[in-house]
Amino acid sequence: MSDLPPFSGDNPRCAKCGMRGAHTEWVPYRPPVYNGRAAERKAQPEHLRRACIRCGYRWQEDIVHS
Ligand SMILES: [Zn+2]
Repeated sequence: MSDLPPFSGDNPRCAKCGMRGAHTEWVPYRPPVYNGRAAERKAQPEHLRRACIRCGYRWQEDIVHS
């Protein structure tokens, strides 16, 4: 399971400027990148990228599980 916060709907409140409303972009799963034996970059789960429509602050949320 993901430890991302759940999808907050169409009018989330920006944590930085208080604006209600954010763009939403789906970001697919990214596999880890290996450099020799150690993972240089961890895998990133499928998620939604939210961006405030006023200040551009960005955060991540989980996809909808239904
Ligand atoms: Zn904002």
